[in-house]
Amino acid sequence: MNLRQTNPVAMLDDLKALVQCESPTEDLAACRKVIKVADEISKRVTGKNAEIFDENGRPIFWLGSKSPKIVLLCHLDTVWPKGSFAPLWEVAGDIARGPGSYDMKAGFIQALYAMTELDHNQVALIATTDEETGSETSRELIERVSKTASAVLVLESAIDGKVKVGRKGTAMYTIAVHGRAAHAGLEPEKGINATVEISKLVEKIIDLNRPELGTSVVPTVLKSGTTTNTVPALATLEIDSRSFTMAEMERVEKEIRTLKPANPEAKIEVTGGINRPPLEENATKELYEICEAAAKKLGIKPIGSAVVGGASDGNFAGIHTRVLDGLGAVGSGAHALTENVSIPHMQERSKLLVEMVNEILK
Ligand SMILES: [Zn+2]
Repeated sequence: MNLRQTNPVAMLDDLKALVQCESPTEDLAACRKVIKVADEISKRVTGKNAEIFDENGRPIFWLGSKSPKIVLLCHLDTVWPKGSFAPLWEVAGDIARGPGSYDMKAGFIQALYAMTELDHNQVALIATTDEETGSETSRELIERVSKTASAVLVLESAIDGKVKVGRKGTAMYTIAVHGRAAHAGLEPEKGINATVEISKLVEKIIDLNRPELGTSVVPTVLKSGTTTNTVPALATLEIDSRSFTMAEMERVEKEIRTLKPANPEAKIEVTGGINRPPLEENATKELYEICEAAAKKLGIKPIGSAVVGGASDGNFAGIHTRVLDGLGAVGSGAHALTENVSIPHMQERSKLLVEMVNEILK
């Protein structure tokens, strides 16, 4: 089979099979099953089985080259616990709905169909199963394969049809303030109040925001104290920070690590750090140009580009090589009950992928 002969109905049926095999990240057995279903579809569509193996205890789908010049990167886990999305599958006109359809099982199907026309000696389609929880077990593999690839194309969903040329990096910090307990009624002056100390830090942390640069530093979970009549000895605060550039992420990290308590007898301890680095536009520029040229050649209207707040595995790949993200499904509603995919775009984006890959390989 090749793309020209591809029947859109077959493509949709394959997406249906993949969506109906629910695969929340936390359910390892379900993730093993979805990889198996993906392999069955691969055999039928491309005539070849994928290699399936465990990386740090979780299953990976790998079809094509063992040392790929181009990686088509996908994940097959979803954010939807079993039974939480109903109906499990629905088609209405040009729209298909189901858990993980848009994020990003349709992207996987598009890439798989593209593999029918691509050189398996130079290209690999890889799917992981823990992207939605931060890719703890698959990060190493993603970075390893990105180091030797000349491009990584990420099949995360498009946003309003546009590819993603920039993604914020994410960082998580926990700040602990160690004070000293004392009786709040009898001798409060002998204590060092961790609640008071951390409240002063919250103000300083908020000052680290740079909305004009897209940098957010958000104090989230706050805990302090033990009982009503005890001066709190310990307070902890969690912080979610995101930014478009590494320079900004490093600025925030440095400021957080050098916070000082108002009371010099209190002690501050900072844990955590940068999780996914930002995907910066210098890593995506060339591939985006190739993408638009490919669209033009196919007679598709310009794709357009967007920068977004959320991170993906493209952020890890972008440390080492050229990346373009958002090459997957056209639709909307990631992580929402409105999640849906545009059916006519599936074939179109699959062709776009083939055209792009062949251009990069030239
Ligand atoms: Zn995703």
